Amino acid sequence: MAGRIPREFIDQLLQRLDIVDVINGRVPLQRAGSIYKACCPFHDEKTPSFTVTPSRQTYHCFGCGAHGSAVGFLMDYERMAFPEAVEELARLAGMEIPREFAAQGPDQDLRPLYDIQQRAKDFYTAQLKQHPQRQRAVEYLQQRGLSGEIAAEFGIGYAPPGWDSLLQALTAQGRASPQLLLQAGLISEPEPGKRYDRLRDRITFPIRDARGRVIGFGGRLLPGGGNDNAPKYLNSPETPIFHKGRHLYGIYEMRQALRRPTQLLIVEGYMDVVALAQQGIRYAVATLGTATTTEHVELLFRQTLSLIFCFDGDRAGREAAWKALQTSLPQLSDGREVRFLFLPEGEDPDSLVRKEGREAFEQRLTQAQSLSDYLLQHLAQGIDLGSTDGQARYASLVQPQIEQLPDGFFRQLLRRRMAKLTGATEAELHHSLARRNSTNIGRRNITRPSPPRPAHHKPNTPLRQAVHLLLQEPGLALLEELPQHWSQADVEGIELLRQLFAQIRQQPDIRSGQLIEHWRDSNFFQPLQALSRTPLHLPESGYAAEFLGCMQRLDKLAAQQEFEALTRRSSQQPLTSEEMERLKTLSRRISR
Ligand SMILES: [Zn+2]
Repeated sequence: MAGRIPREFIDQLLQRLDIVDVINGRVPLQRAGSIYKACCPFHDEKTPSFTVTPSRQTYHCFGCGAHGSAVGFLMDYERMAFPEAVEELARLAGMEIPREFAAQGPDQDLRPLYDIQQRAKDFYTAQLKQHPQRQRAVEYLQQRGLSGEIAAEFGIGYAPPGWDSLLQALTAQGRASPQLLLQAGLISEPEPGKRYDRLRDRITFPIRDARGRVIGFGGRLLPGGGNDNAPKYLNSPETPIFHKGRHLYGIYEMRQALRRPTQLLIVEGYMDVVALAQQGIRYAVATLGTATTTEHVELLFRQTLSLIFCFDGDRAGREAAWKALQTSLPQLSDGREVRFLFLPEGEDPDSLVRKEGREAFEQRLTQAQSLSDYLLQHLAQGIDLGSTDGQARYASLVQPQIEQLPDGFFRQLLRRRMAKLTGATEAELHHSLARRNSTNIGRRNITRPSPPRPAHHKPNTPLRQAVHLLLQEPGLALLEELPQHWSQADVEGIELLRQLFAQIRQQPDIRSGQLIEHWRDSNFFQPLQALSRTPLHLPESGYAAEFLGCMQRLDKLAAQQEFEALTRRSSQQPLTSEEMERLKTLSRRISR
């Protein structure tokens, strides 16, 4: 999907839809007074603690803390990316998505491309059953220990040896144009008028997107076909529907087999995925001949919280692992985990799992190296940690990595571990890190206000509590008794509170789910999400009083700060009569 979806459209969409309809179509809900209940689809339970609140347009689970809007629900439940979820909701609401900026001119209708890929897949699987030369393909698959069921499940097929079998079959009787096949990457045209099937005499592996649509192919050359100079593995080229940096092989098949995988194993080849599935390991997916990208990691973390990257133990494998680590760091928020498994040289998951079986292979997984171990060990190579110089150098290598991490437990943990290794105290490291940051303002985006942290990291300040209450009940911002000067308080996060107020005043009937959606692209989104799923420990009838209390404390703080500034000034120069008046007003506000 090209282009960005305008913010106003998402607002309208969420206004028109009822979250109850969206969820009820997937998880049957029971009405209980003004809310709806069900057994939680995100954790196992016997008694319902999953609730949907129509007045807020949010869902919340008291068991596992799952929480969010209709968009969030689809993203979590269907594991859709944000644009996909909006697309699906628009479809439900019968609305057309306007595109703010089309990526490449007007949007192309991609349906013919999906369609032709599916037909190519049907052609290849039919050849595996009926082509006169199918025997070599069948034998190859049998040697690899693959059953008919697994081959069928993964849609494995056979591209026959001729130059244009696929081209002929799909374009017969004008059913599809050669141009479409060309655009789909199914054929190539090295010189004008000379068109060949891209995959010839190969085992074919259809690559499907998360929704199960065929978007491209991988092809494994059959041995003994007389063209041993051809590359062993060949993938479809990039097309409008196939992007190697965005898609993973096996994701659809994994999701068909496992609703909620506890971990995912990321391997390098499609044969690895299929061989693992054959042995009953259904949680493997493969990158498609590219380094791990940010989009890959996002896609992976939408499926599960725990990732194991599996690489060859050789140099190339180690380099690829380091790249994967770098890509993962910024996405390692609390609760997420990344580990690394290095295989013995000369082995891949396919050969290894066939040799030693499922149990032994899974035993290896339990010994995968944690990201922090790998990171600290990798950077310590060639450094003498016994010397002060070495420690300083080490710290200077590790710190930029720690900076990549989002704020949270894991970041603290890593900082503490490094401190232990280098002998520096945490405070010293923190300090030197802060110094580095302050000299780097132009380079990195660190001038943004830092978001409020989830409850377990910070004591509850009036500001946090006010934000927390607003997320539950946006209407609180419209209370008439609110104090007037709270927004002048100089505290961390005040800008966020101001913006929340502005949003709610602009859209007085905004509901919690929509409110949070506004922040999806900002640094505040994760902390706001975390905050909104933290229980308030307050009866709803007490919200207004608590909120007013918080706002009054902020208001008082603003007065105190101004009072102090004025009295400081008065020690240097006499105050004007206006300023004296101001002091009096302020002291009344403070003592109130
Ligand atoms: Zn739950």
